[in-house]
Amino acid sequence: MQHKIVQKTDPILRKRAEEVLPDQIKSRKIKDIIHKMSASLRASSNGIGLAAPQIGIPLAIFIVSEEAIVVKKESDIIYNEDEKEKRRKRWKHFVFINPRLIKSSRKKELMPEGCLSVDGIFGQVRRAKQVTVEALDENSRMLRVGASGLFAQVLQHETDHLNGVLFIDKAENLEKLPNE
Ligand code: ZN
Repeated sequence: MQHKIVQKTDPILRKRAEEVLPDQIKSRKIKDIIHKMSASLRASSNGIGLAAPQIGIPLAIFIVSEEAIVVKKESDIIYNEDEKEKRRKRWKHFVFINPRLIKSSRKKELMPEGCLSVDGIFGQVRRAKQVTVEALDENSRMLRVGASGLFAQVLQHETDHLNGVLFIDKAENLEKLPNE
């Protein structure tokens, strides 16, 4: 069963997420939370990252789809909806627990951005082109990830969620998509 994604007026999105205790990382409880997050991300139509507060859980965990890392040369337009859906189901999700943004490049770029918790609104956010994040994975192993481009953008967006920040706080040129 899929978890509902919390929307922007919910106060949980404005709280600083709590660190997961090291001896809890491999617990049933945390495994279940990660499982729910994955299911919710897969069920979304276009999300590539999700933070635990977005499913109502105030813990410092986020996941990022492998899709953010794969360089897509082919445009999505060449896939029909069924094929897109199948591709979404195959993407792996990387888990970041108690993440820390330890380095950000001085070079920034304005990137188009949206959020599953801010339905129908898009804008552009100035993001560091490269970042390094340290975190623990779901097996409690230390990860140190250097990222650029879309992956770097997602890491910054999800880290913001764990600090109670939404992209609309920083975005320029916010646009509302007309209701379908
Ligand atoms: Zn978001």
